[in-house]
Amino acid sequence: MRHFPLFADLHGRRVLVVGGGEVAARKVRLLLEAGADVRIVARELGEEIAALSTQLSWIAREFDPAQLRDASLVVAATDDRPLNARVAAEGRAANLFVNVVDDLELSSFIVPAIVDRSPLVVAISSGGVAPVLARAIRERIEVLLDGSVGSLARLLEAWRSRIKAAFPDVARRRAFYERLLRGEVARELRNGRTDDAELGLRRMLAERPDTERGSVVLVGAGPGDPGLLTLNALRALQDADVVLHDRLVSQEILDLARRDATRIAVGKEAGGKSVAQSRINELMRGHARAGRRVVRLKGGDPFVFGRGGEELEYLAAHRVPFEVVPGITAAVACGAYAGIPLTHRDHAQSVRLVTAHCGDSVDTLDWPSLARERQTLAFYMGVASMDHIASKLAEHGRAGSTPVAVVENGSRPGQRVLLLRLDELKDLATRARVSSPALLFVGEVAALAGTLHWFGSAPETWSALSRAA
Ligand code: SAH
Repeated sequence: MRHFPLFADLHGRRVLVVGGGEVAARKVRLLLEAGADVRIVARELGEEIAALSTQLSWIAREFDPAQLRDASLVVAATDDRPLNARVAAEGRAANLFVNVVDDLELSSFIVPAIVDRSPLVVAISSGGVAPVLARAIRERIEVLLDGSVGSLARLLEAWRSRIKAAFPDVARRRAFYERLLRGEVARELRNGRTDDAELGLRRMLAERPDTERGSVVLVGAGPGDPGLLTLNALRALQDADVVLHDRLVSQEILDLARRDATRIAVGKEAGGKSVAQSRINELMRGHARAGRRVVRLKGGDPFVFGRGGEELEYLAAHRVPFEVVPGITAAVACGAYAGIPLTHRDHAQSVRLVTAHCGDSVDTLDWPSLARERQTLAFYMGVASMDHIASKLAEHGRAGSTPVAVVENGSRPGQRVLLLRLDELKDLATRARVSSPALLFVGEVAALAGTLHWFGSAPETWSALSRAA
């Protein structure tokens, strides 16, 4: 180990920074956050440091070793290497630690990459040899630690001595902390309920349960591409004991779950067998009751044609704690990946997400209003419903020339977009062998796919399809 890691208390201590430019500004900002008494030596101040000038003192002169008096640390951040070297040499002669920004050789201390969730701070260093690597690792940790970690640390600080008194035995105390960090208290903090977190902690201390109460996180997995997961979805997956997932959820996404998590496929496969909803409910409740953290993972968004509402009603009725992480729903993903803006000032002032899974549900829809112009319809559907939708819209007066787009496997490697007119939809499913999952857009915006497509192959049109047939 070339550098000894340490966290220094700089409150009220003088730190001399030589240089007033952008590079110096980065360090100065951090030093000020740590409460240091920053003194700048520079002929001129750059815009960024000038903006901080009320919080620091400034010597508008050349560097002079006499300025090192009273300093605890020195930072050289000029673009003049001989000057930096002189500052380093003078600093060393005065027995001070000196950092020369981006110059390992001249530095006697270096500054790590940090993830700041004060009071919790993670510092990462490659000893100055591969700062890019340190930064890449920092980004990963940044993702892992949500913003509530700081409040958790503060809560633990406030309760530390009481917890210690309640559990004099180290092993039992550690087990208690373990449950605390993974359970209800952390969850309440994540969800912005500091008071409930404190109540939960108080209850845990009074009751000393052997296991933490389990919970369910209803997570939207998005349309398939793992890049479209939210950070909260990723955290929930990495924290899961059990993942109950729809079959539509891609393997790449399941691979992101904690390695030891039990993965259970439930829910419908298009046309295939499905696990009954009541069974899914029982699984969620059973695993949560056994103290496990359950992720219920659904394609797209759980609240858009995903039965998320029903599942939460069940959990609420059985007093199983839950959270919800939204996902990118198919209409939003397919629109983006096919080049179809769902609204557009010239063409559509509203969007409607409509489900048309079987004949019956199609007939109960409000067709007169769906057939109106200047709106975008996104039909989540069984491919077989397409003909029915087309004839209903025509019957209620939507023009045959209205652009429509069918997006099959939206945002996935096999994405296919068919771009037609409403009166060309009939029999399309069989003619063009449309397979599921597929989404149907109806409205003027669909035509924009012709010019705005950017992902996968270009849209297929009626004439191209006829030629192929
Ligand atoms: N909760 C999901 C929708 C579930 S209903 C969501 O928010 O996206 C299933 C329907 O969604 C499918 O029949 C299909 O119409 C649509 N769908 C889901 N993923 C899709 C994809 N990648 N491409 C096209 N349509 C998709």
